[in-house]
Amino acid sequence: MAQFQPLILSTWDFGLEANQAGWDILVRGGTALDAVEAGARAVESNPEITSVGYGGYPNEMGVVQLDAAIIDGKTGRMGAVAALEGIRNPISVARKVLEKNRHIFLVGAGAKSFALREGFREENLNTPQSVRWYAEQLPQSQQNAGHDTVGILARDARGDMAVACSTSGLALKWCGRVGDSPLIGAGLYLDQAVGGAVGTGVGERAIEVCGAFAIVEFMRYGLSPQKACEQLLRRVAERNRNRLNFQLAFIALSREGETGAASLQEGFVFALRDSTRDHTAPSAVFGRDYP
Ligand code: ASP
Repeated sequence: MAQFQPLILSTWDFGLEANQAGWDILVRGGTALDAVEAGARAVESNPEITSVGYGGYPNEMGVVQLDAAIIDGKTGRMGAVAALEGIRNPISVARKVLEKNRHIFLVGAGAKSFALREGFREENLNTPQSVRWYAEQLPQSQQNAGHDTVGILARDARGDMAVACSTSGLALKWCGRVGDSPLIGAGLYLDQAVGGAVGTGVGERAIEVCGAFAIVEFMRYGLSPQKACEQLLRRVAERNRNRLNFQLAFIALSREGETGAASLQEGFVFALRDSTRDHTAPSAVFGRDYP
């Protein structure tokens, strides 16, 4: 008999699509690990979502380099890949790294040859739309021309938890740039004894504070997921007092199923699915909803 209510929580409005894929697994008694992988795969495979996976934002050279990571709360195992080219579903490569359980983090050419060895198919991740976008953007070469990560936290009916995230990172990023998303502790973290967190926004600012790890530690020492997200973003705001013109947001989920979501700027929404809810909602915003 199920002892826990399954729940899945994701970043942005495309989180609804991630949640749908994950929920289909959770309601059939599947694991949180399978649910978060399926959620990320759904978003990665959708070419209309231009900041994740296939059709994701190209880097300065016009190449799509993808970052993804996954953590299994039940076993404590982790897997991550960064600057991975030519593979549509980096989250599943990260999952393979987790399953092999020899290393945790593979990058660049090494990550790609691992994926090919494991039977993943190489393909061109640029879509006609992304090629057009690149040609239009390049002359302006704007910093932070676009980004957004799908981050997914789930708890299954056994109470086991998992977290995953996947992104093409900052649009027009330097070749080889790795953001927070595949860095365990920066973009995502989970300790099933406490809960987990995952972020989105300008990754450099999340790396500086070990964002996701800090949130989980705040929860460990008694803060609610909501207060923990706010506390971390307060710290980011203090560090960046004179240049607070970027977005950073985190969502968090406790072992008990309590959720939290906070951002530095307006515009961030999270998506929540459980047995009674399937919706998006805006997060608390720094300076407006919390000091
Ligand atoms: N955090 C991602 C990165 O910096 C981008 C995002 O989530 O908006 O690569």
